[in-house]
Amino acid sequence: MNKVRLRFAPSPTGFLHIGNLRSALFGYFLAKSMDGDFILRIEDTDQKREVEGAVDSLLNIFSWIGIDFDEGPHISGNYGPYTQTERLDIYQKYIKELLDKGEAYYCFCSSERLDDMRQKQQENKEAPKYDRHCRDLSKEEIEEKIKNGEKFVIRQKIPMNCCVEVYDELRGKIIFKSEDLDDHVLIKSNGVPTYQFANIVDDHLMEISHVTRGDEWLASFPKNALLYKSFGWEMPKYIHLPLILNKGGGKLSKRQGDVFVEDYRNKGYLPEAIVNFCAFLGWHPKDDQEILSMKEIIEKFSLDGMGVSPAVFDLEKLDYLNGHYIRQKNVKELSDLCKPYLLKEGLITEKSKDEDIYKTIEISQERLKKLEDIASFTHYLFMDDIVYDVELLIWKSLTLGDVKKNLLEIYSVLDKVKESDWTKECLENLVFAYLKESDKKNGDYLWPLRVSLSGQKNSPSPFELAYVLGKEKTLKRVEKAVQS
Ligand code: GLU
Repeated sequence: MNKVRLRFAPSPTGFLHIGNLRSALFGYFLAKSMDGDFILRIEDTDQKREVEGAVDSLLNIFSWIGIDFDEGPHISGNYGPYTQTERLDIYQKYIKELLDKGEAYYCFCSSERLDDMRQKQQENKEAPKYDRHCRDLSKEEIEEKIKNGEKFVIRQKIPMNCCVEVYDELRGKIIFKSEDLDDHVLIKSNGVPTYQFANIVDDHLMEISHVTRGDEWLASFPKNALLYKSFGWEMPKYIHLPLILNKGGGKLSKRQGDVFVEDYRNKGYLPEAIVNFCAFLGWHPKDDQEILSMKEIIEKFSLDGMGVSPAVFDLEKLDYLNGHYIRQKNVKELSDLCKPYLLKEGLITEKSKDEDIYKTIEISQERLKKLEDIASFTHYLFMDDIVYDVELLIWKSLTLGDVKKNLLEIYSVLDKVKESDWTKECLENLVFAYLKESDKKNGDYLWPLRVSLSGQKNSPSPFELAYVLGKEKTLKRVEKAVQS
């Protein structure tokens, strides 16, 4: 069997769409599950859409995600160059072969003529399609026009009145009528190939064995198959991945939420969570296991587990997975990940002590769903002074007077604790013992204490807060509540 080789072939047009990451990951999983190679190829033939720096940012995001390419423009390999604009002479050679075989033809139509044609088709409610005006020009006519310097494109000569049968690994056989296919452009008037042409030539020359791409490319599939046939080349296996829908059933779009991987990274989603989440956008392991590392996915990954029904992008599931991976980190790792968010909000400085940050992270880790939330979860712990509505101190039917009295009692319990005993467990044991001995209701004391330390409706327990704040700050906050 030939070596398994898959590729990711992005156009460098800006940030990486989460759907494209899914295509890349599925290619990577499949390649690695069969001990194959995974290749990066930059499809930059549409230079109008190219964005500067896009390739570097792609490489950066893939290294963050944990995908290692075996070949690509950044590391080279035996099938290079891996950037299409560096392969232009190759496409010239192959288009010549198609022209010679009569499988492609010169088209000299002006853009005015094409605009006119399209407008008429629109008026007649016909599908937009080239009307094959130049399909049967004679050799002499063509030579004459070229000699006169007329601009031209080269189009694929789709056979007339036949059926084109293609095979998708997930969908099986699909039949297209050739009348529905456009004689689309293979080489543009500037001599540069279109995606449709360069992609096929490169997949062949790079010995790609399987293609994983989004199902928006299904419509191109018969035209791709015809090109393979024209060249007499064997086709790779095609796997068109199911559409990704949002929870409401619509297409994923910027208007309804984030669509770029960079957005998710900035919000503090971990690569482990994103990989795990994307794996389920069109695949399911036989054993129904939900939490899977990249390595485990690769071990379990196969075409059998994949389907064609649309995958649902469920943000709650991503949050759940992210929370899981956040809880797997040790405190130092998580602090390092959270620091940029705390710095950004001005809650810490480069000089802040690690131990103080660690304590804060320790008590937040359990509830944290994404790293950026660390700031809103913990801001009150870093501030010297907190502002809150005193009414919030009141628990159930207590009066403000009762609350203050209770806080004073707790103050004297806490005041007696030695600095060296100032731990969560110790504080908890002491306060509970006091409440039990004096036959008090826990809520009457713990709620006001917790609010006096956080100023928040929801927060970690008062013992955790006191532990992070330290004795001095804790007593100061309780005192302030009593005096409020
Ligand atoms: N350059 C195409 C894209 O950006 C690649 C599609 C394919 O994988 O064939 O989507």
